[in-house]
Amino acid sequence: MKIWLDGKLVDESEAKISVFDHGVLYGDGVFEGIRFYNGRVFRLEEHVRRLFDSSRAIILDLPWTQEEVCRFTCETVAANGLTDGYIRLVVTRGAGELGLNPYLCPKPTMFIIASSIKLYPDEHYQNGLSIITCATRRPAPGALMPQVKSLNYLNNIMAKVEAIQANALEAVMLNEQGYVAECTGDNLFLIKNGELHTPLISDGALDGITRGVIIELARDLGVPVIERSLTRYDIFTADECFLTGTAAEVIPVVALDRRVIGSGKPGPFTGRFLDAFHKLALSTGTPVS
Ligand code: PMP
Repeated sequence: MKIWLDGKLVDESEAKISVFDHGVLYGDGVFEGIRFYNGRVFRLEEHVRRLFDSSRAIILDLPWTQEEVCRFTCETVAANGLTDGYIRLVVTRGAGELGLNPYLCPKPTMFIIASSIKLYPDEHYQNGLSIITCATRRPAPGALMPQVKSLNYLNNIMAKVEAIQANALEAVMLNEQGYVAECTGDNLFLIKNGELHTPLISDGALDGITRGVIIELARDLGVPVIERSLTRYDIFTADECFLTGTAAEVIPVVALDRRVIGSGKPGPFTGRFLDAFHKLALSTGTPVS
């Protein structure tokens, strides 16, 4: 496998970064997860824009343009001869001193991995997921800006551990006020009375690219979109629930904390969003070469 690292495509065995890199020492950095289908990268420009916004928000100056980063990403996919898979694009603060001071890290490190992806088993798309509410909270926006896709994933990892220990694949994370923020690696949507509801970004959700696509598709499908504060009550009483993310795409949820949502089966709105999403993902995107 060829990895793009600091301007060069190198063999996987040579793709190494410094132990003084603040990405390793402090989780000081940002990243993106991106999909490509049929030799085309889905929403590449949007992902790279979010990467640059995340970097900007943490005062991490990138010495490349967005166009260059898009090009490097496509080159990495092409160099590995892949047509379908998943890209991990990571920018760290770079190597510096042992102290926190990011100004002592002269040059960011960037690497790009293009690989295959392990999806949720197909039965979960057919029958829906049973998920839990976890005790681990999303950090308050004043502590960690929810829009920044940073390398600080420890709280999501702890939430994921709770899900695994409860035999679930995902967990709903609440914010400090008790409102639903999102899941450990996915955004959450509800259908109620023919309307689409999703938590506000200010309640602690990542501004997911797939979330944005679903909101666009809802407008095309004539489904009203309501971004508002949601509680577990709203999930328990919803007609349908589904999650979205680059890796998961659109996946139905049929139970929360062992309580059945709606009919207990993936609903018709979820099916329409799933189909519309697949159609779009398979027919659009930036060609890799
Ligand atoms: N929330 C979190 C915490 C995530 O890690 C992800 C996946 N990157 C998402 C939501 C979904 O975002 P996207 O649609 O951009 O992949």
